[in-house]
Parts: sequence; C-alpha cells; structure tokens
Amino acid sequence: FFQRAQFHITVDAYAGLPPDQGIEVAFAGRSNAGKSSAINVLTQRNRLAYSSKTPGRTQHINYFSVGEEGYLVDLPGYGYAEVPKAVKLHWQRLLADYLASREALKGLVLLMDIRHPLTVLDEQLLEWFLPRQKPVIVLLTKSDKLGRSARAQTVRSVRQTLTDRGATLTVIPFSSLDREGLEPARQAVGELFRN
Ligand code: GDP
Repeated sequence: FFQRAQFHITVDAYAGLPPDQGIEVAFAGRSNAGKSSAINVLTQRNRLAYSSKTPGRTQHINYFSVGEEGYLVDLPGYGYAEVPKAVKLHWQRLLADYLASREALKGLVLLMDIRHPLTVLDEQLLEWFLPRQKPVIVLLTKSDKLGRSARAQTVRSVRQTLTDRGATLTVIPFSSLDREGLEPARQAVGELFRN
C-alpha cells in the first residue's frame, strides 16, 4: 500500500490545493521533528520527502498519492525562528484553513520530538484540528533518544493530555533510525485511508 506512494504535486497557497475530494491524511510537525524521515521510512521511499533547511523553501504542501484516491499530505514544517513575520502569518493561515475546513482530510498525523512534545505551536495546531473530532495519530519521533522508561512515561503523559482534550487518539513512539513503531504507525495511518 504505502510502497506505492508517489509524488503527486506541490502547492504553495490555499487556492492551489487540488479539488477537495478523495481521502487525505496530513503529516504535520515542527521543522526538524523528523517528519521527512518518517514519511520516507513509512513509504519505503528514500527520498520521497526531503526536508529543506531553507525556511523560505518549505512554504509548500506536498501531495503524495497513495492508492486510488488517497493522498498523503506533507504540510509545511513550522517553528523556524528566523522566518519573517509575514511569512509566519501566511503559514499559519494556510495550516489553520486546511486543518479546520478541508473535507477530504480524514485524519492528522502529528509528529513531535519525543524529548519536546506539545510545544506551543503543536498546541496551536491541535486547536485548529481537534474541534473536527477526527482521529489524530501522534508519532513521538526520535524515540531512540530516550531510555525505555522515559519513553513510556512521555507516551502516557501525551496520551493523557490529549485524551483529556477530547482527541480520538493513537500515540506511538517512533524512530526512523531503529524503526521502533514502524508497523503500528503503518497500520494506524493505513486505517485512516480506509475509513
Ligand atoms: P523534518 O524537518 O521534520 O522533515 O525532519 P528530518 O526528517 O529532516 O529530521 C531532522 C533531523 O533529525 C535530521 O538530522 C535527522 O537525521 C534527525 N532524525 C530524524 N529522525 C530521527 C530518528 O528517528 N532518530 C534520530 N536519532 N534522529 C532522527
């Protein structure tokens, strides 16, 4: 299923999105959270997603087609420090509109570094998406950076916090490096496409 993911299009503004139909599963996260690595590992395509370290160049949404009418949607990473305010506002607007109103969007995959979960910007993103009551899959990335018990504790606390806020939630510790959580993540994301 995922192995057949293919690059589809890049869009850079809300007006440029394809027709709001079919099934979209969006991947979001702070820049450097490990989103590109995760997409590449999940799809088994080495360079499908690439992270650009040039903030101005990441201001786009990449669509990868998965199956017949499915799209894995790679949202722009957020949280760059040196981005001009106008650009930040543009991103925010784009993300807010997309998350709050896109019909085709069936679920959100939120990637957060397991060492720094639920930053202010992650919370902001969830504020836009949670009211829609659609499933959220949290991948706690770079899980190889934490020991087993710290890992389990972070999983529990993130799960608790977001469940309290009414999220339909799956929390998975994930490492692109040692592949922890790969199968559960594939399964959970695959399910969103089937709904
Ligand atoms: P993006 O900006 O969210 O797309 O993040 P990238 O996928 O480009 O990853 C950012 C940095 O984190 C890179 O230096 C990666 O090598 C590193 N990284 C990504 N995933 C992992 C992981 O699972 N474990 C570790 N230790 N490092 C990772």
